[in-house]
Amino acid sequence: MDFSRTPQQLELFRSTRDFAADVLNGDVSQRDQNNLFSRSLWKACADHGVLSWPMATTDQPHTAANASYLMEALGQGCEDNGLTFALGAQMWSVQLPLQHFGSQELIDATLPGLISGETIGAFAITEAGSGSDAFALQTTATLDGDHYLLNGEKTMITLAPVADVAIVFATTNPAVKQWGISAFLVDAKTPGFTASENRPKMGLRTVPFGDITLDNCRVPASCLLAREGAGSSIFSYSQSWERSLVLAPQLGAMQRLIDDSVAFANNRHRSNSAIGKHQAVSHRIADMRIRLETSRLLLYKIAWLLDQGQQNLLEAAIAKTHISEAFVETCHDALSIHGGSGYITATGIERNLRDAVGATIYGGTVDIQRNIIAGMTGV
Ligand SMILES: Cc1cc2nc3c(=O)[nH]c(=O)nc-3n(C[C@H](O)[C@H](O)[C@H](O)COP(=O)(O)OP(=O)(O)OC[C@H]3O[C@@H](n4cnc5c(N)ncnc54)[C@H](O)[C@@H]3O)c2cc1C
Repeated sequence: MDFSRTPQQLELFRSTRDFAADVLNGDVSQRDQNNLFSRSLWKACADHGVLSWPMATTDQPHTAANASYLMEALGQGCEDNGLTFALGAQMWSVQLPLQHFGSQELIDATLPGLISGETIGAFAITEAGSGSDAFALQTTATLDGDHYLLNGEKTMITLAPVADVAIVFATTNPAVKQWGISAFLVDAKTPGFTASENRPKMGLRTVPFGDITLDNCRVPASCLLAREGAGSSIFSYSQSWERSLVLAPQLGAMQRLIDDSVAFANNRHRSNSAIGKHQAVSHRIADMRIRLETSRLLLYKIAWLLDQGQQNLLEAAIAKTHISEAFVETCHDALSIHGGSGYITATGIERNLRDAVGATIYGGTVDIQRNIIAGMTGV
């Protein structure tokens, strides 16, 4: 593996980080406190090209390494972890599966709007009765002439309250369990499709999430992705991208927290010395650095594997577990270094810690990742 970056890549990293710092942070604290999603900032990111980064074109295939490197830059400049998370969620689990499994007609009708930021997409598999065991879902899709009738209820779906389209997983043949699961691209305006209001949550409050009710929701058969029964493969494909790369912005966020903490530790004086001179503080910063560098190695390797077209189930589970937990611990260390001011809402430090916890749950909890790692290690 070659870790060097070309001058052009370095320049793109800098310009993306600076764009994020200049444009995306203005009222992040207010948006967090009021659970507000900003469609204009979403559009600003799309106009910057963010949502096009991972897409294959006729000239070049997917480039996981480039896209995740730029998402790291976005996370370094952008203090709104909800926004960077939601952009990744749409890219990895809506745009890529649509491009890979959708018919040309479906791709032409939907993908340009997703990439340009005019249209927002959600990915809906979780139900009240099936989360970690995602394939135990109960939503049904019944063929009715040249349409399917969808019935069921999805929950905790990122972007659902504002989504224009959603990839919805439903069973077309419950008798064969996971092999009967199918995936549909559903227009949110279809009668019978109802998204809830935003459901307030602990962190990532700038991105709405909620429930989707499907009540005899009649979708054209042409909205089926791939074929009946392909749903578990589509889920695995999107998870291999999402689990691997959705945490790329957190590398940048960890760098930002280290930079803030170092500046604070050098400038804050107690007992006649900078607090950074106390080993209790400097070792926290050393631990933050160790976590960032190990997270980078995992993420860069997994992006490389994706670009080689190689299997990455084990590496994705390791990266998801390590980076999500590293981010929680790093946010906690940053808060501790800042003392009481870290605990105060106005400084924005505590928001990172609240945001960080979500990543240990979404995309498969860290317990489920450890099951995968243990299983692939022989137990
Ligand atoms: C911020 C956020 C965004 C989300 N976005 C989406 C989205 O866009 N689309 C979507 O479909 N879903 C989304 N989800 C839902 C998410 O995928 C589920 O919450 C997650 O898979 C866990 O499922 P659950 O909540 O039902 O927990 P459960 O499966 O009920 O698990 C509860 C606890 O038991 C543990 N556990 C369960 N089974 C096992 C096992 N076999 N071995 C060990 N431990 C186990 C879990 O680790 C957890 O600690 C989101 C969740 C969050 C928090």
